[in-house]
Amino acid sequence: MDDIARLAEVLEQSRSMVFFGGAGMSTESGIPDFRSAEGIYHQKLHRHFSPEEMVSHSFFVEHTEDFYDFYREHLLYPKAQPNDGHRTLAELERMGKLTAVITQNVDGLHQLAGSKNVLELHGSVKRNFCMDCQAAYEMEHVAAGKGVPRCTRCGGIVKPDVVLYEEPLDSQVMEKAVQAIRSADTLLIGGTSLVVYPAAGLIKYFQGQNLVLINKSETKADEWADLVIHDAIGKVLKAAMDMLAARS
Ligand code: ZN
Repeated sequence: MDDIARLAEVLEQSRSMVFFGGAGMSTESGIPDFRSAEGIYHQKLHRHFSPEEMVSHSFFVEHTEDFYDFYREHLLYPKAQPNDGHRTLAELERMGKLTAVITQNVDGLHQLAGSKNVLELHGSVKRNFCMDCQAAYEMEHVAAGKGVPRCTRCGGIVKPDVVLYEEPLDSQVMEKAVQAIRSADTLLIGGTSLVVYPAAGLIKYFQGQNLVLINKSETKADEWADLVIHDAIGKVLKAAMDMLAARS
């Protein structure tokens, strides 16, 4: 049996599947992994900053304007739309097979595709708050302007609800993610190389039958998985779903 047929069988059997996804989930929606972006050489400071450094808390505090330049160029994709992968996962939730989507992405595309229970480990570009008066702002408020986005009420800095490097993850979201994985019969991991914290750590809570890994390149966890498919996640999920639909 080929890999897509095996995956279709797993989808058919599952009743409490959890999906865990990373940057590769959104590349088919035209959003590249910001870690693949060029860093910048800071003329004034005579030093080079990596993409990870540019989305760190200390960079945000010390070079706020440069942070927003990088953020607008590499993390904000206001026109991005969900792909087949997002749509298939939303459909699996409607069918009562999938209980949660856990994502490292901040683009909000799972919700846009119709997923309800989405645990965003690193927050979302769709939520933005004034650091002084906590007023909420749409993504457009940050995307449209130049320089540091300001609160129209009090002039404070409007900060995206995105977990920056050096900032702690939301412990409630983490706890829900652990609970979902603990009670899952299938753990489907897609579009992540599993090197970004806390991905690798979460897998160890899984006690179910099927660990499925779908990623374009090899991952550290390939050897533990029951099924490994090295291909684009959206394409693979849609093919398996189409096969499942054709059978029933
Ligand atoms: Zn304010």
